[in-house]
Amino acid sequence: MTHDVISGGQSIHAPDNLKKLLQSILQQALTVNDGKVADYIPALAEVKSDYCALTVATLDGKVTSVGDASTPFSIQSISKIFGLMLAMERMGDSLWERVQMEPSGQPFNSIVQLEWERGIPRNPMINAGAILVSDVLVSHYSASKSAVLSMVRGLCNRDTVGVDSRVHESEKDHGARNAALAYLMKSFGNIESDVEEVLDHYFWQCALTMSTEDLARSFAFLANRGKCPRSGKQITSHRDAQRINALLSTSGMYDQSGQFAFTVGLPAKSGVGGGIVAIVPDYGVIAAWSPPLNSFGNSARGMAMIRNLANQLGLSVY
Ligand code: GLU
Repeated sequence: MTHDVISGGQSIHAPDNLKKLLQSILQQALTVNDGKVADYIPALAEVKSDYCALTVATLDGKVTSVGDASTPFSIQSISKIFGLMLAMERMGDSLWERVQMEPSGQPFNSIVQLEWERGIPRNPMINAGAILVSDVLVSHYSASKSAVLSMVRGLCNRDTVGVDSRVHESEKDHGARNAALAYLMKSFGNIESDVEEVLDHYFWQCALTMSTEDLARSFAFLANRGKCPRSGKQITSHRDAQRINALLSTSGMYDQSGQFAFTVGLPAKSGVGGGIVAIVPDYGVIAAWSPPLNSFGNSARGMAMIRNLANQLGLSVY
C-alpha cells in the first residue's frame, strides 16, 4: 500500500500540508449536523456538542492535530481494545473458547443472541464480549484496574490519564442492561468472578478519559506490527496485532461495521463518548472526536472526518 498523495508537487505528508488538509476536513465536518449526544447517563449528556478534534500520529513519531485534540473525553467502548489486549496476553488461544470472533449483526448491547448462543458472546467488541473480557481481567489480575491504567499510561506516555469518577458511578446507576448480560453469561457458567466486581471493572474502564492525541499515540503499535514506534517495545505479538485489527474491521463500528469497511476500509473502534480510532497498518493512527452520535452510536462528524481523510489519502487496506 502506498500513501504518497502528492499535492502541488509536495507530499501531502509534509507536516504543513497534512495540517492544512486536517483543518479543511475539520471545517467540512462542522457542517454535518445530524447527530445527537449520548444521553443514557447525565455525565455524557452534559458534554458540549461542538467539541471537534482530529489527530494523525504517524509511525515516524509525528503527531499532527487540529481542533480540541488535547481535551480528554470519555473513551467508552474504545477501552474495549485495552481490555482485550491484556486478556489475549493472559489467556492465549483459550480466550476464544469463551468469546467468538464473529460480527454480531445486532446492536452492541443486544441480549437475545447471547441466550441463543448459550452465553458465548459473538465478539469482544460488543458489550457482552467486553464484560466477558473484564471477567478474565478480574479473575487473572490481582488489581485489574491498575493493570489497565498502567498499560494505557505507558502506551500514550502520559502519567495523568485517569478515569471520570462521575461517569463511572452513573454507568453503574444506569447499568441494568449490562448487568443482565453479565448475569445471563454467569447462568451459562461463562463468568468466573463475582458479577458485581466484573461490572465495576467494565464501567470503570468505559470511564477512562483520553484526548485524540493520547488515543492516536496509544494505538500506534497496532499499525506497527505490535511494536510501539516511540519506545520500540513489543506490546503484542505481530499476530495478535493482526487479530485485533481483524476484529476491529469486522466488529469495531457497532452495527455499521460493514458500511465503514465499504466506505473507509480501515480497522476502527468507536465509543459513545464520540471518539473513533482508525488504524492504518504501516502508516499510523487517525483519531477523531465529536460528541453527537448517529443512529448506530458512531460519532457523525468523526465518521465524516475519517472517511474524508482516508479517501483523500487512499488509505483503505482493501
Ligand atoms: N458504557 C457504555 C455501555 O456499556 C459503553 C457503550 C459504548 O461506548 O459502546 O453501555
